[in-house]
Order: sequence, then C-alpha cells, then structure tokens
Amino acid sequence: MSSTSLTAPQDNQASLTSRAAFPRVRVCIDCRTLLGPKEACDGGPKHRVTSLETPAGRKALLTEVWGPPSVRRRAKQLAKAGGGGLGAGTLFEGCTGCGDCGTFALEGEFAVVLAVIALIAMAGVALYWIIAKIVEAIRAYQNRPRPNGGLTKPPSLRRRAGPSGVVVGQTHMLAPATGKSCVAWALDLRNDRFLGTDLMLHDAETTGFDVKLDDGTTLRVPGGRIRIEGPRERVDRSDAPPVDGFVQTITHQDDPEDEGLDPFPFDTVDEIVVRPGDRVRIFGEVEREVDPAAPGGYRAPNAILVPTGVPAIRVERQIEQK
Ligand SMILES: [Zn+2]
Repeated sequence: MSSTSLTAPQDNQASLTSRAAFPRVRVCIDCRTLLGPKEACDGGPKHRVTSLETPAGRKALLTEVWGPPSVRRRAKQLAKAGGGGLGAGTLFEGCTGCGDCGTFALEGEFAVVLAVIALIAMAGVALYWIIAKIVEAIRAYQNRPRPNGGLTKPPSLRRRAGPSGVVVGQTHMLAPATGKSCVAWALDLRNDRFLGTDLMLHDAETTGFDVKLDDGTTLRVPGGRIRIEGPRERVDRSDAPPVDGFVQTITHQDDPEDEGLDPFPFDTVDEIVVRPGDRVRIFGEVEREVDPAAPGGYRAPNAILVPTGVPAIRVERQIEQK
C-alpha cells in the first residue's frame, strides 16, 4: 500500500464476504457483536444471541433496534405524515396565480393601492406557506423513527493481561473502512444521534498471524473471530462503501411493513487495524501447542503458544503509517 487514502479499494467487499474468516450468522442483541454458528457472546450468558438466518431471529433484532411492530408502524406513519401540516396548501386552491385578480375596471391610484394590497397579501400567504412547510419538516424530523443501540458495550479484554510482542506475518486482507492492508481488524458501526447507546454493530476478524513474544516464543493467532482494543480511526459511512456493502449482505427484509428500517443503521465507523510490526499485548489464557513429532515435547524450541478460545489482543504501539 503506497497510499493512506481513506477510500477503500473496490475489492474490499469481496474480502469481507466471499473470503470472510468466519460466517456472520448470529448477533448478540445486547452488545451487537457478530458471531459465528452456534457461538455464544463473549459477554457471558446474560447476553442474548439471535440468529440472522431466520425471520424470527431477525425480527428479534429489529424489535430491539426499532421497537415492537406496533411502535414501528406508528413511527413510520408519523414520519410519513409529517405531523399533519397546517393545511396551507388549500389556500392557493382556486387561484391560478395568473394575475387576473386585478382586471376590474379600476383606474388611477385606487388600482395601484389595490395592487399593492394584493402583493402584500400574496407575500403574506407565501410567508405563511413557507413557515408551514418548515414546521412540517421539523415535525417529521421529530417524529422520525429512532434506532436503539446495544444495551451494553461489547466485552472488554478484562481477562488476565499476558505477554506482549510484535506482530509478524503477511497481510492477506484490507480493512473494510480505511482500506489499510492488515492481518486483523475490528469495526464499530455507530449511529451518531445517540450518546451512550449508539453502537449498532461490532465485528472483528483476522486471517491469522504470529506474534514474536519478547522472550522469543511465537504465539500463533488462528484465522477467525478476534477481540481487539487499540487506537481507532473514525470514517464516515459515505467514505466506507465496502462496509455498507458488507452490512447489506447480512440485512434481510422479511416484512414490507418494515421497509426502510435497517437492523444496523449507522453513520460512522470506528476501525482498529492490526498490522505486521505492531506491538501487541495478549490477554486471556494461552496454551503450548505440542508437536508430537518434535523431540523435547512442549519444551522443544519449535513449540508455539496458541490462545485458548477467542483471541484477545490490545494494540499498544502501531508502526509508522506509510
Ligand atoms: Zn454480547
């Protein structure tokens, strides 16, 4: 990558969908983390997980985001009606605006005065009409349906801090929002209007990489789901078309009544990337992978460490941006 342009290359979408590190078939409706088949949320048993593959599962998510069906319908009606308006449109009915109003046989100053009065009256009507339209637009804005973000944040890396080291390996993918080549990324999709509960979707994956730990041991992170903390870069939705395309692949519309109510409505994307050269700290349990063929068993110099469960890392120092 010779450029740090925020505009992601077009093939990003392909890397997200056809070559995804794990299938996005479930979502935690409490913290909005995307999960693989049969997976529970890292947040524990209190986090409710629903399927994105069944209409019932998707409905549960939509209810969480936009409220129950009755509320969704009412919100949409209100948004469409725009608060009922003031009936200003009818004031122009019957008048073609052709200027014929003043064709009485009037002469002199009286006609001028009448014309001025007519102009003032028309200006008044026009002003009234403009104000009515503004009021209507404000009401429509106030009555628009509002999405609710996750009730809780995705789980932090709170598990025990482990060793640190430097990421080594080749990059096989591009981060969806920033388009940076990387070995792992994490995305938070946010709907800016709501502080506190603005997180609509959390997703992270890796194609797999090694970490050369400070004691010389190699830790191997396998491809799949991952948990990452670190410096975030914020990108506008309009600057991240691959993210948009990816969200469309996990968005289905089951009920025509819910048209326009997106299960993952977002304005901005916060992205974290992990790249070769980054210094990272490992969290959680790791185990030694023993190569039975190698002499020396788990003490063999070629033995490696692997995280137990979903790998969790924190990016502590990033390499210079090229
Ligand atoms: Zn969760």
